[in-house]
Amino acid sequence: MESAYVIVGASLAGAKAAETLREEGFEGPVVLIGDERERPYERPPLSKGYLMGKTAREKIHVHSPEWYGEHSIDLRLGTAVTAVDLTARRVTLTDGSSLGFGKLLLTTGSSPRRLPVPGADGANVHYLRRVEDSDRIRSVLRPGARVAVIGAGWIGLETASAAREAGCTVTVLERAELPLLRVLGREAAQVFADLHRDHGVDLRFGVQVSEITEHGVRLRDGTLVEADAVIVGVGVAPNTQLAAAAGLTVDNGVLADQHLQTSHPDVFAAGDVVNAFHPLYGRPIRVEHWANALHQPRTAARSMLGEEAVHDRLPYFFTDQYELGMEYTGYVEPDGYDRVVFRGDVPGRQFIAFWLSGNRVLAGMNVNIWDVTDTIRDLVRSGRPVDPDALADPDTPLDRIGGPPQH
Ligand code: NAP
Repeated sequence: MESAYVIVGASLAGAKAAETLREEGFEGPVVLIGDERERPYERPPLSKGYLMGKTAREKIHVHSPEWYGEHSIDLRLGTAVTAVDLTARRVTLTDGSSLGFGKLLLTTGSSPRRLPVPGADGANVHYLRRVEDSDRIRSVLRPGARVAVIGAGWIGLETASAAREAGCTVTVLERAELPLLRVLGREAAQVFADLHRDHGVDLRFGVQVSEITEHGVRLRDGTLVEADAVIVGVGVAPNTQLAAAAGLTVDNGVLADQHLQTSHPDVFAAGDVVNAFHPLYGRPIRVEHWANALHQPRTAARSMLGEEAVHDRLPYFFTDQYELGMEYTGYVEPDGYDRVVFRGDVPGRQFIAFWLSGNRVLAGMNVNIWDVTDTIRDLVRSGRPVDPDALADPDTPLDRIGGPPQH
């Protein structure tokens, strides 16, 4: 019998890889193993519509329950892979059994960082990663409840928005000077600080948490932020333990090339866990966003089948907070840009922000303006120089900025 293609991690990335293997005509056995009991689902709704009770549970799944059987995908839920033996080409499962593989794909994702302070695992403390975490948080978002959010990143801000919409009193505690500072930089981060303040969130920056108690969050200066519930969103760490123990090269994630092939020729990786060489940037980058978990597995699956597939898509992510909807296309390191050019109405929260290095656009973020992602992507990918004044002028059509692509 043909040896199985085993996918470790049954989330969006794992499910999309299985789908692509079948679409590409692979007829051998495909085993999709995940330690969660829920069949593969998408995570963005967990901090947005699903958390607010606006998106039904049936809407979050990647495929119907029948789809797996119909496509002969051996879906094993509630099962963790505990070891990978690259020499014997076998994975060991939680029940002690083992399974041989011909090719292996790691889509093991990432896990929330725990806050290293006393009380951080208390009954009133919530981390958000899985659907049951979202259920649990939703159950405490009651009108009048006092919610303290630690970390003003994506989880922190999206849950703060959901909590305000549910009628809670919300305090956000962030150690940096602004929300999302590392991702957006000072200029655009200010937009999110203003947004949350305008919606009645008590934002506190430059604060250090020293303890969480049943009464709330104690700061290093002794202040107690009283809270009935505490939500912690202080980032994630890639789940690289299996890969490292197996002897694969790990460096800020499982290291892979542009084909998503790891340091072992028959092992591939995709999603949050992979630090993959990106041809446009000329070095590996690790992207912790939904679009990456959606698209990378297609490349990984095709590479597993021996095709010449390359993942060179620009990173993309989006958020919805209150009445603000945003999409971001591109990639900028903290301090990796010279200036931000705004086009449109920033106070009215209807604009596009562009991050520039010299006269080249590195990334664009459209806020409450739609159908511009392709144009932004083209501006970034082409690398052609732009006139910043034209970029800032809403009367100059975006697709005319910078003239014809330069190759
Ligand atoms: P995140 O976006 O990386 O943000 C974590 C935030 O917490 C950062 O602002 C960080 O500041 C801050 N922080 C770290 N330690 C802290 C501490 N001890 N006290 C106070 N603040 C602290 O991570 P996340 O919000 O936890 O989200 C988890 C993952 O889910 C991320 O990969 C994120 O991209 C993803 N996600 C994405 C979306 C979206 O795309 N819309 C939505 C939800 C989740 P520093 O930067 O200074 O460390």
